[in-house]
Amino acid sequence: MGTIFHYRCDRCSELAKLQIGIGTHGCYMTPDAIPPRLHCQAAWCYGCESLSQAEKLLSRDQLIEFHGSGSKIIQEMEFRNGWSKKQIGFHQQRIDGQLESGLRLQRIRRTPPRCLRCGSTNIKHYSSEEISEGKYRHPNCGGYFIKYEHDRIKHIMLADYKLTIDGLSMHNLSTTERFKYYLQYIWYFIQLHFSS
Ligand SMILES: [Zn+2]
Ligand SMILES: [Zn+2]
Repeated sequence: MGTIFHYRCDRCSELAKLQIGIGTHGCYMTPDAIPPRLHCQAAWCYGCESLSQAEKLLSRDQLIEFHGSGSKIIQEMEFRNGWSKKQIGFHQQRIDGQLESGLRLQRIRRTPPRCLRCGSTNIKHYSSEEISEGKYRHPNCGGYFIKYEHDRIKHIMLADYKLTIDGLSMHNLSTTERFKYYLQYIWYFIQLHFSS
């Protein structure tokens, strides 16, 4: 499940789309039992010259804070949605694992955040104020992208949001990128199992 928001620039009428709900589905293909989840934020991408969701690489403190608020929501589900102890345990275990693998990825990751559409690192995240207002500035134009409609989508292309350790979509890697990913995977595996 996800939603695609459609935007139009109030000055030059250029159209743009932004998909939300990607983070909960996306993850990094690491050797962890519970892989790190994807965190993303709206950005302007100079690679595909468009509004796009981009990776947001959280700091150690931000990861811990995200985990804390996730735990709180899960614990409240028993009272709000009548979840059983078993369901709560399952979800809690998942986010505990995501914190652990997320912290590991944070230590290993070297490349800057990427656009989730084209993989470019030439991006500029919008601020949380701009995101909460839902008004995104169109660079070099002076206008703002304003939302005018949205589509609910049942199936999102999950394959697009399975990422390498470097944040590239596993879906269409070149031979060189694939080779680099395998090497990183082995390095990650060694860190996971053989370093204390
Ligand atoms: Zn414009
Ligand atoms: Zn892009």
